[in-house]
Amino acid sequence: MSAAPEQTAPGGTEQPGDVLAEAGERVLEGGVGLTEEQVRRVLALPDERIPELLALAHEVRVRWCGPEVEVEGIVSLKTGGCPEDCHFCSQSGRFPSPVRSAWLDVPGLVRAARQTADTGATEFCVVAAVRGPDARLLAQVRAGIEAIRADGNPIQIACSLGMLTQEQVDELVAMGVHRYNHNLETARSHFPNVVTTHSWEERWDTLRMVRAAGMEVCCGGIIGMGESQAQRAEFAAQLAALEPDEVPLNFLIPNPGTPYEDYPVVEGAEALRVVGAFRLALPRTILRFAGGRELTFGDLGAKRGMLGGINAIIVGNYLTNLGRPAWEDLDMLEELAMPIKELNRTL
Ligand code: SF4
Repeated sequence: MSAAPEQTAPGGTEQPGDVLAEAGERVLEGGVGLTEEQVRRVLALPDERIPELLALAHEVRVRWCGPEVEVEGIVSLKTGGCPEDCHFCSQSGRFPSPVRSAWLDVPGLVRAARQTADTGATEFCVVAAVRGPDARLLAQVRAGIEAIRADGNPIQIACSLGMLTQEQVDELVAMGVHRYNHNLETARSHFPNVVTTHSWEERWDTLRMVRAAGMEVCCGGIIGMGESQAQRAEFAAQLAALEPDEVPLNFLIPNPGTPYEDYPVVEGAEALRVVGAFRLALPRTILRFAGGRELTFGDLGAKRGMLGGINAIIVGNYLTNLGRPAWEDLDMLEELAMPIKELNRTL
């Protein structure tokens, strides 16, 4: 990973043949992700082929990632009042959304980390609604990590604090941060329609520094922000070029007060096609069910997604939208006979 990949034009030459048969050879047998053009064809599969797609995606994830599921909890250290204008985000201070600015104190962080570890999760992600961290925020993260360790909690700590300078990347490494989340959100060609206060390339630069410094890279996005099917395929290809350790897959929650408040919720069958297609594009990556899954899938769909290529989930509450209780997801994993990844083992 060095320079941002060249932007590819939507469209392209359609290849004849059955894309799932091609995926069987290329992805399942070879462990190589689908091309952008092949992802486009998967996304165009008719509804009646979705079970076949999900079965293949599940086989791919078991073959190349193993049977385990990674469970993660997240906590918001600084909520709301963000100066950026990401159109999906209720934490932007630029929209009249009901989320107000708030900070969590260090004892609150320690409690949240403990509760997360008690669910069996291996990863605890500290999130802040900011363009990038300032000295005060980094001091709070440092104090939080020290207090979590003083509590005897060995959980791996991830951070999501926006765009970073090289100095800040180095600071996080020195604090022992294991993984850094920074989403590219959507295809490069669609990004200017979603965010105007910073560029896709600025996000890419942070990810490049994070990778070079040795932290694991967590990078995903949100489906359902007005992107075309071709742009979904473009996004999958751009993620594949990034080679992230983890891809959180969110489905838009049309939050009140945001520019996307009237956008439709992604329909379940379409969302399942996206899950299967992203797994086939990223056969070796941790693919995490993140925000929006309750709204988009409901209970049944969540199980189908778990059996369609997903191998990680966020349990408990998301930042500004309540998720379902952690035990419901843990019960679901038990019912599906999916073992939870233990601490200090990589998928
Ligand atoms: S997505 Fe992040 S950077 Fe964008 S407005 Fe929300 S908190 Fe700010």
